[in-house]
Amino acid sequence: MTKKGRVFSGARPTGRQHLGNYLGAIRNYVALQAEYDCVYCIVDVHALTTVETTQDLKLNTFEMALDWLAAGIRPDESILFVQSHVPEVMELHTYLSMVTQLGKLTDLPTFKEKIRQQPENINYGLVGYPVLMTADIVLYKSDVVPVGIDQAPHIEFAREIVRSFNYRYDTKALIEPQVKHTEVLKVIGIDGKDKMSKSLNNHIELASTPEETIKRVREMVTDPARQRRTDPGNPDVCNVFTMHKIMSPQVEVDMINTECRIAGIGCVDCKLRFATNLNKHLEPFRAKRAELVSQESYVQDVLHDGGQRARAIAQKTMIEVREAMQLP
Ligand code: ADP
Repeated sequence: MTKKGRVFSGARPTGRQHLGNYLGAIRNYVALQAEYDCVYCIVDVHALTTVETTQDLKLNTFEMALDWLAAGIRPDESILFVQSHVPEVMELHTYLSMVTQLGKLTDLPTFKEKIRQQPENINYGLVGYPVLMTADIVLYKSDVVPVGIDQAPHIEFAREIVRSFNYRYDTKALIEPQVKHTEVLKVIGIDGKDKMSKSLNNHIELASTPEETIKRVREMVTDPARQRRTDPGNPDVCNVFTMHKIMSPQVEVDMINTECRIAGIGCVDCKLRFATNLNKHLEPFRAKRAELVSQESYVQDVLHDGGQRARAIAQKTMIEVREAMQLP
């Protein structure tokens, strides 16, 4: 079947993935494979702008790749690779940086947020983060980038850089990527407050055992106004109910929606039902993960092969880029 074009997406190596990563990104990556030629990149170079030590970088990259593969990324069809395995991206980043205005980079809300988050480490790489991201996208001649509406300005920025480059060197060597809007599903953590995230330790790991999952789900914060089992609850403000709506069969969702409001079902029972459904949903993932772990060096082989395939595309693009720039 001919595919609609090439998709590119990258994520920093954050190690074992959580339910937020799965519902907000990985699930979509898996689905896109049916229609697009997909290039998925673990952006270890980008990670260097924020990590204090590289001690865990290898393990985090490995664990993340393992989770993506277990979730359904098909390495024979898609390219799964590590950013630093294709050093051409660093070269393209340098060339693109010459057609990018510094003021625009320092004005970006994401850069300003980083200044707030790590005032003691405002490194040069942080400023150039969007330029490196653009280099990633265009190096592989990607047509579309799947992002939620909140991230669309980043892709618009990438398009601007591409237009500046193509205009400056009177070329069509680089392709302006299109945004592929995806439904933004923001998964709230077990604290019931913030976005699920590893750094806040409010996450549920996909690779955890069914018992660990139950334990984590039991810690989930429900409707804070419901103090006692006999108090009626409000599912509209309860994160457990939100998760039921994503994971559980409709009949169960309807039952909880009715029974919670009249104190017919308690929070403990409601959470256990969610944990059961979640564990059921994750069964194939966990089985596949265990199988992949048992195949020695499988993940490394996939990443190595992906890197080579990505590099072959990158090298062709760079020939065109250097030619367009009339580099001696
Ligand atoms: P990065 O900063 O490289 O995007 P993250 O680990 O923050 O790395 O996120 C990886 C992917 O998972 C992103 O697409 C992000 O939107 C998605 N994601 C992370 N946490 C959540 C969440 N709580 N809800 C929905 N999507 C999430």
